[in-house]
Amino acid sequence: FPVEDIRNFSIIAHVDHGKSTLADRLLELTGTIDKTKNNKQVLDKLQVERERGITVKAQTASLFYNFEGKRYLLNLIDTPGHVDFSYEVSRSLSACQGVLLVVDANEGIQAQTVANFFLAFEAQLSVIPVINKIDLKNADPKRVEKQIEKVFDIPGDECIKISAKLGTNVESVLQAVIERIPPPKVYRKNPLRALVFDSTFDQYRGVIANIALFDGVVSKGDKIVSAHTKKTYEVNEVGILNPNEQSTHKLLGFLGLLHMEVFNQRLEQEYNASVILTTPTVPYKAVLSSAKLIKEYKEKEITVINPAQFPDKSKVTEYLEPVVLGTVITPDEYTGKIIALCQARRAVQKNMIFIDQNRVMLKYLFPLNEIVVDFYDSLKSLSSGYASFDYEDAGYQAAELVKMDILLNGNFVEELVTIVHKEKAYSVGKNICERLKDSLPRQLFEIAIQAVIGSKVIARETVKAYRKNVLAKCYGGDITRKMKLLKRQTEGKKKLRKIGNIEVPKDAFIKVLKTQ
Ligand code: GDP
Ligand code: MG
Repeated sequence: FPVEDIRNFSIIAHVDHGKSTLADRLLELTGTIDKTKNNKQVLDKLQVERERGITVKAQTASLFYNFEGKRYLLNLIDTPGHVDFSYEVSRSLSACQGVLLVVDANEGIQAQTVANFFLAFEAQLSVIPVINKIDLKNADPKRVEKQIEKVFDIPGDECIKISAKLGTNVESVLQAVIERIPPPKVYRKNPLRALVFDSTFDQYRGVIANIALFDGVVSKGDKIVSAHTKKTYEVNEVGILNPNEQSTHKLLGFLGLLHMEVFNQRLEQEYNASVILTTPTVPYKAVLSSAKLIKEYKEKEITVINPAQFPDKSKVTEYLEPVVLGTVITPDEYTGKIIALCQARRAVQKNMIFIDQNRVMLKYLFPLNEIVVDFYDSLKSLSSGYASFDYEDAGYQAAELVKMDILLNGNFVEELVTIVHKEKAYSVGKNICERLKDSLPRQLFEIAIQAVIGSKVIARETVKAYRKNVLAKCYGGDITRKMKLLKRQTEGKKKLRKIGNIEVPKDAFIKVLKTQ
């Protein structure tokens, strides 16, 4: 295929603004899939995605489109829309030259719209603004056009107004892709250079890599080398993607609670695996204090992912925590509450502007660990669902951190080791102990729950003993009924995890983490 007839593009949007619906219409228009009623969101393939109606994993499809007597190859890369998955977006974008920025004509610009736009802008991609859902009764495309001018400095007349649901004006989106997005720059005469932006493993076919080609050509039988691992591979097949290729099962680390639950569910559904959940953690760094330690670790600064391996203060000159630049967009009336929430999360305000008469855009620098667990849920609930949020990486900052252990009758609970900011240790510890008390069933003996830093207990709760006698109800009853009850009790225990001699139901951890 001649390079000048190829376009590589992504659709980016705030969640629910219509990215998947638009992708389906584009696939139909180009004859990639049949136009039937059950084509709902072909690119969202995984079972959990369908159940939850969100896109978790980027999917790619190749479309053919005839325009002004020429046949074009349009490679569409779908991107995740939910805030927990935003880092997948930038990976997909590195394979593109342009994006469709979809904005809901009723809701207008939201936080992910802003974050995604800047990812595309920094990658120097062409941005085509698409105002979707113009069929809605409350749609106000003119107002959204003005927001786009104000926030992104894109002339309003560049916006394409569509209804992805009804198919209205979708054809002009395809034409804009051809006219406004440049073809990739590929120097076919140079040696092969390509970016693997996604990959899968197929038991029968081997590694299937989705690549964006920068230089050279790739054909069947070629020997290629991974620049990263220096390993050599032989090319067995070269193809383009259709929506029926299998998606990858690479494991995305947990970024938020939704992320955690989705993956727990995915692992259990797709691999039949039982999963032990741990407190979501962020990568901290520790700057080592002596030459001897630097020699031992072979590095001046070590990254700590497992809280259990957090180095003691005596070994360290300072700890560093990852920070992110967060964007919140909200109706004006919730601004006060949101500022208070951000302050409680140790965030520092960087900017605040009105994007139209009654909508405010706030920018804050957040410690990443303050938002991974439940910030998004809190923001949504205090704004009745109206505020939106997204964030991007902003490096590291110095922080006073401590490691906190949770003990049940003196036994460490490995799932609940956490690294916390010194200022927050007491309240976080107290909270975990209280939640754990509420979610642990009473047992035959008393359980002491303790939050501990070093050898200092900072919080404590007690679960009182309770004598559970499953046979009590059928005292004197027949023996088969007794056996049945005993059997049921043993089966119930399989869903438990034993810590010391204490039985902890698996969902107790999720409950503790959710409400921290
Ligand atoms: P995504 O999260 O950005 O992928 O959004 P979806 O494509 O899943 O769409 C979210 C919701 O908006 C779904 O219920 C769609 O049916 C609906 N939707 C998408 N496009 C339109 C449109 O043009 N008009 C209307 N009325 N609804 C739409
Ligand atoms: Mg979607």
